[in-house]
Amino acid sequence: MTQASHQPLFYGLSDGNRIPSLGLGTWKAEPGQIGEVVQKAIELGYRHIDCAAVYMNEKEIGGAFRRVFSSGYVKREELFVTSKLWNTCHRPEHVVEACKQTLADLQLEYLDLYLIHWPFAWEFCGSPLNENTWKGVDGAGNIRFDHGVTLQQTWAAMESLVEQGLVRSIGVSNYGLAELHDLLSYARIKPVVNQIEAHPYNSRAEHVQEAKRMGLLVEAYAPLGSGTLGMLRDPAIQNLAKKYQATPAQICLAWNIQRGCVVLPKSVSPDRLRENLDAVRILLDAADMDTLNGMDRALLACDMRVYWPYPVPEEAVRPERFQNTSSNGHS
Ligand code: NDP
Repeated sequence: MTQASHQPLFYGLSDGNRIPSLGLGTWKAEPGQIGEVVQKAIELGYRHIDCAAVYMNEKEIGGAFRRVFSSGYVKREELFVTSKLWNTCHRPEHVVEACKQTLADLQLEYLDLYLIHWPFAWEFCGSPLNENTWKGVDGAGNIRFDHGVTLQQTWAAMESLVEQGLVRSIGVSNYGLAELHDLLSYARIKPVVNQIEAHPYNSRAEHVQEAKRMGLLVEAYAPLGSGTLGMLRDPAIQNLAKKYQATPAQICLAWNIQRGCVVLPKSVSPDRLRENLDAVRILLDAADMDTLNGMDRALLACDMRVYWPYPVPEEAVRPERFQNTSSNGHS
């Protein structure tokens, strides 16, 4: 049997579609910057772009898609595009409206993957999403939750998007295991992924294994620690980088892909875009996988309390509330 010369470039999804194992993250790119970054990434070979309405940059990304399609550089069917439903749009009528807004902004006829961004609903504050409408607070500065809509109703609306041909696959983000089990009890169309924070300093190993058992793929967000954890300066990761003639970022990405997760590194630098894409060339041996598996510190890079400037309930920042590990993310 011949040995693989690189990491898997695609994974199969439980609904029969397939997803590239590495995609470009688009959160926190300056306005006026992300369009060029996405275009450059596609030129370098990225075929998977992770977007979200709440990143407030989908219009600019849509301009980049139009440019690469009209130049004939790639065809729509060669690109895998994800977006996410924001917390204020969980009511069924808003789900359809939000998805159509994202499609208009991205200048696409369909999404490859649409995710419920967080497993809780906030009150609708108007559309489209902008600095005034993405969050609602009461007089005391607390989030106004919308208790008039359930996750089951939101999921049924997500299913209708597939039936209308607006979306190819549907999934979730920031769900804990209890929420995933519940979702599977009522889903007619099964979720194909859960997108959560996952990197060597917060491996979410039990979640990854359990999600796989349920037929879901884990997409690792903040796979480089979102630039905040100092993880890339960890001596053990630096030693592995030397051994594999790679960079610390490449080691972190290769580890996640090798254990079966999609990775979504974000960069605005052409050199780092290239570097991150090249991570698929690195194959780690079993002992080095074990070393990285053993580095878990349950550290969160994306603590939403930093981004949501008012009290956030504990379950919002610790969705896996029945375990010690935790997950988080703004968007
Ligand atoms: P990442 O882990 O991708 O880290 C991004 C940071 O690392 C940036 O500061 C970037 O700087 C830097 N960086 C990129 N490449 C390298 C490299 N090779 N060497 C050293 N530094 C590097 O964090 P994100 O928080 O951006 O997460 C990635 C994506 O995941 C997001 O963009 C978004 O698409 C998604 N996400 C989803 C969430 C959810 O709730 N579903 C929550 C958070 C993120 P520079 O740009 O200057 O290169």
